[in-house]
Amino acid sequence: MCMKAEFEANGRRYRAPTAPVLAICADGWDPEYVDDALARGLMPRLSAALAAGGSYARGRAQVPTFTNPNNVAIVTGVSAARNGVAGNHYREPDGTEVQVTDPSFLRATTIHAAARQAGIGVLCVTAKDKLRALLASGDVPAFSAERAHQQQLPDGTPLTEALGAPNPEIYDWRLSPYTIDMAVALAPRLDAKLVYASLTDFVQHSAAPGEALADEFYRAVDVSLGAALDAGFVLGLAADHGMKAKSLEDGSPNVRYLDDELSAAGIRSHHTLCPITDPYVVHHAALGSLAWVHLDDPGELDAARGLLASLRGVEGVLDRFAAADAFELPADRIGDLVVLADQRTVLGRSTAAHDLSALHGTLRSHGGLHERSVPIIISHPLRAGALEGRDLRNRDLHDLLLNWLA
Ligand SMILES: [Zn+2]
Repeated sequence: MCMKAEFEANGRRYRAPTAPVLAICADGWDPEYVDDALARGLMPRLSAALAAGGSYARGRAQVPTFTNPNNVAIVTGVSAARNGVAGNHYREPDGTEVQVTDPSFLRATTIHAAARQAGIGVLCVTAKDKLRALLASGDVPAFSAERAHQQQLPDGTPLTEALGAPNPEIYDWRLSPYTIDMAVALAPRLDAKLVYASLTDFVQHSAAPGEALADEFYRAVDVSLGAALDAGFVLGLAADHGMKAKSLEDGSPNVRYLDDELSAAGIRSHHTLCPITDPYVVHHAALGSLAWVHLDDPGELDAARGLLASLRGVEGVLDRFAAADAFELPADRIGDLVVLADQRTVLGRSTAAHDLSALHGTLRSHGGLHERSVPIIISHPLRAGALEGRDLRNRDLHDLLLNWLA
């Protein structure tokens, strides 16, 4: 198939890449980590790229500041209201709960699927296998580092053999640099010019900026970024969300359990859903700073709203349509009430529903408004006007990489 000079995805136009492009979703990279790593010289290759004309800006993430909605915003280039993905986890109208991992949730095409249709070689690599099916939508070749030992290239070569190294397990800090290495190694074998790599935030959930684990992680990622630059890639990085400490003085998680509070107040038809819920409980025990509350009896809405708004650590309670408006969300895929916690607080369902013993160290998490500011980094110079005066979002990453390179 001949390659088109440009293509369209969800109403936005993109130019075909002239040099290979690697867009990275840097999971949980609160700007504090990047600032600290650059200030202390942990990322010499990234520093050199920035000194040579690259850009480091701050943008905003999709609220709720969770992984699936933001990965999908980045790969579709449009908001959750347009692409349909508002959480990692979802309650069906009949009350059953499901993980948002199936491509049937997508109401928009991915930029990679549209690029592939235009004859451009594409590839998606994800650390967490839970994202693989969403990224593979539209027949995009997609692999996960988590399950690399079970996957093979189209020619039958086992992935780990092609990579020359076994894949680290999901709670190993090396999984993210391995994911970048995978993208760089597989791209030429698949003739991919537009490559997406999505990392994991296990390190950021476990260690604050400046802690030994975080330092080791950012040093190793910089080596992988350097290898990608040496292989000729233009790099773009955008975080899906930031990360903040959510514990009390004694180190225990600072949690409000919404179903427990609602029941104690005599409300009966409530059902709290934590849209952070995913298979990786060691990261966060399904505790984040935003929750949906469903009320099967609409007559209880006002009482529930009042009770939730009075809880210590809750900074906002929005009705379904107000939240959809404020945060560009699909109204049919969120709760009757959207509850926002402050920077130090997370929201759970009930004490019985969360296994805190699974947590690794003190709780650090995300999901609310305080993890909305994210770094957006481009390794090569951009044309004037790319960043100035713009309400920059992480979902603009592909626009910057494909439309604005100098
Ligand atoms: Zn996370």
